[in-house]
Amino acid sequence: MPPLPPTPPPRKAPTFRLRVDDLAHPGVAVFFSAVVPADVLQRAVDASMTWLYTRETAPTKYVVKSITLILRAMDGVAHTTGTRTHKEIHLSLDYVLKTRYHAADEITGVLVHEAVHCFQHFARGTCPGGLVEGIADFVRLRAGRAPPHWTRSADGAWDAGYERTAYFLAWLDARGAPTAPEEGTFVRRLNASMRSGAYDARIFETLAGQPVDALWTAYGASFAAPNKAAPDDVPAEAPPPA
Ligand SMILES: [Zn+2]
Repeated sequence: MPPLPPTPPPRKAPTFRLRVDDLAHPGVAVFFSAVVPADVLQRAVDASMTWLYTRETAPTKYVVKSITLILRAMDGVAHTTGTRTHKEIHLSLDYVLKTRYHAADEITGVLVHEAVHCFQHFARGTCPGGLVEGIADFVRLRAGRAPPHWTRSADGAWDAGYERTAYFLAWLDARGAPTAPEEGTFVRRLNASMRSGAYDARIFETLAGQPVDALWTAYGASFAAPNKAAPDDVPAEAPPPA
């Protein structure tokens, strides 16, 4: 049985809306045969709340009142816009069409990533973009929706973003709770630290005991230690049956 999510989401979910900008696009049929829109959005919101918040830091009710999913032809994959209370997730129908052989997993994973952008704290806009994207993919990873091509790597900068940063965050999270990684609090505390005030890289030292560059080096070295649990071994929530 998968571990219970440590943070039950607040009871009343935001209102979900769906807009399809071109019903003739062949990606529309792929989308609707792969997912049930309300279910996949709820799953994405639940994953965001579970992995961004602790029982103590979770809001008692959502600031976000509505999430509108907009399916349309566009370049790229997806992005999130909107106001503090009303969010829009734009998902590319061209991209959905390209993923038609594994659309359910990919759409769910992309929407988990985008839902994180609806609920994460940004340190009043000062959180580095790579960290914003790394946290979104960390949640996708921990929700069991990492695509098969993702690999961990310590090449380059820790805040390169996306899965590069996500696996590093997963390693930091698991370090704090080696026997029960689902109780790791690093990312939840990092998110809480960005609720107000400006981003300060020293938060890594506060939460994990070393400056972020030293942690990045230790993370890279951990790949060469066969007896240590790798971030890949961190059990994720089992994805519910499709
Ligand atoms: Zn993103």
